[in-house]
Amino acid sequence: MAAIKGKDTKPEMIVRKYLFFRRLRYRVYSRKLPGSPDIVLKKYRTVVFVDGCFWHGHEGCKYFRIPKSNVDFWRHKIAMNIARDYANNVDLELAGWKVIRVWEYVIKTKAKRKKTLETLYNRITGLSDIGYDQSNGKDNESIAAEPNIQYGELKASPTEKGWN
Ligand SMILES: [Zn+2]
Repeated sequence: MAAIKGKDTKPEMIVRKYLFFRRLRYRVYSRKLPGSPDIVLKKYRTVVFVDGCFWHGHEGCKYFRIPKSNVDFWRHKIAMNIARDYANNVDLELAGWKVIRVWEYVIKTKAKRKKTLETLYNRITGLSDIGYDQSNGKDNESIAAEPNIQYGELKASPTEKGWN
């Protein structure tokens, strides 16, 4: 658990391959932008992060379990990561980027993967935000401090009110 974000992690590769298959072209892991987005789609002025459930603090997710020792350390560290993600979102949006975050859990979970990837494609290309079903319970916690952010299968960005 040395790095916060490994390069070419598997869920990230799945997302990339899908977007490539859908004929979107992108750059990966841009260090020039806040937070080093995993995928940068310049044409659509959109960046995509595939967030690891542990490091980015996916509350209620089975991939998010605070280790039993050094609990305070881990809680603090992950709270800092969440705060940094939020700050990066804001910086990116202020610079005119659309920010989309995907939990690795939904990419890892085959039953959710296809729909999530399709939704992602539509979000990137701006085809449609309508009809996205976020009423599937578990993935829909919001962050207490930021009630406007819905943590759905794709995370909403700070300037959005939600998915509808
Ligand atoms: Zn998760």
